[in-house]
Amino acid sequence: MSFSLSGIPTASNSSDLKHVKVLILGSGPAGLSAALYAARAELAPVVLTGMELGGQAGLTHVIENYPGFPEGVGGSQLGELFQKQAERFGALVEFDTATAVNLSQRPFKITTENGQYLADALIIATGARPNHLEVPGEYELTGKGVSYCATCDGWFFKDKKVVVVGGGDSALEEGLFLTRFASSVTIIHRRDTLRAGKVLQSRAFSNPKVNFIWNTVVTAILGQDKVTGVALKNVLTGETSTLETDGVFIFIGHTPNTQMFEGQLEMRDGGYIVTNHLMETSVPGVFAAGEVADNHFRQVVTSAGMGAAAAIQATHFLEKEEAVKV
Ligand code: NAP
Repeated sequence: MSFSLSGIPTASNSSDLKHVKVLILGSGPAGLSAALYAARAELAPVVLTGMELGGQAGLTHVIENYPGFPEGVGGSQLGELFQKQAERFGALVEFDTATAVNLSQRPFKITTENGQYLADALIIATGARPNHLEVPGEYELTGKGVSYCATCDGWFFKDKKVVVVGGGDSALEEGLFLTRFASSVTIIHRRDTLRAGKVLQSRAFSNPKVNFIWNTVVTAILGQDKVTGVALKNVLTGETSTLETDGVFIFIGHTPNTQMFEGQLEMRDGGYIVTNHLMETSVPGVFAAGEVADNHFRQVVTSAGMGAAAAIQATHFLEKEEAVKV
């Protein structure tokens, strides 16, 4: 079944084997930009959305640094615009998830939850997922006060106290967003220097609802049916303490969604797919774009650019092959 970002089914396909010229895995900015470019090259690309329609950007409340939107744009709204534009030129967006790939021969074989595809070219834009603290109580209390998405869950913490773990852009951006609802936002960081950019830092420092606990890690999340507090440890003094809170928002980096490609594509530390500047992977005909290959920029605009580049290169790849056949 196909869906628009608004959740409306748009088309349907049976579960039989489908042969496509370009298959795109992932529906974030990289995947949908690749779809736009591949569609305009008349390659009729199929996008498999994965579990997160719109990717991580779709979960962002307001994106203020995507060019062309001087007042900012909602993450899901931008995703819908990306999708609409790609569909206008013939891209098909399928609500389906790849579960296995065979990249040992072309066409590549991709098994999904709903069927199977053969693809002449593959663009991987499966993104990344938030890292977990891996402390007692985290797993048990996820959805009961532990969250990895302020946009999704912030509303539940109206007039409540929350803590945010992390010191990067995500921690501060999401922490500031939480001040709309929460009575206080305590940012717990393991060092005394933030990794986040200066603009976010000055916004956070000047917000009366935001306060910081430095040089401190969360060692456990406390509560039975819901979060009631966190256990803390000062990494300099070793001193332990507890802090009462209603919610714990964790923003400590990401892990790329690449398990499926292990042993088939060259990867570097952290499981990111290795690409060259043309978005080519170690397997000819397979391209990667966005956060699955990039742990440095991680911006909507850079991911979109990589998606476009991957599709342009996939087009050249298929054209060259056609030229050889003639
Ligand atoms: P990040 O920059 O990797 O920051 C992760 C933070 O979590 C760091 O402060 C790190 O501490 C801390 N951390 C990591 N593991 C931890 C652990 N086990 N326990 C406690 N703390 C831990 O991740 P991010 O904030 O998600 O940002 C990722 C990228 O996206 C960055 O390039 C960022 O610029 C970009 N981004 C940009 C924007 C924007 O421009 N508006 C918004 C969001 C993200 P240390 O500092 O000590 O390493």
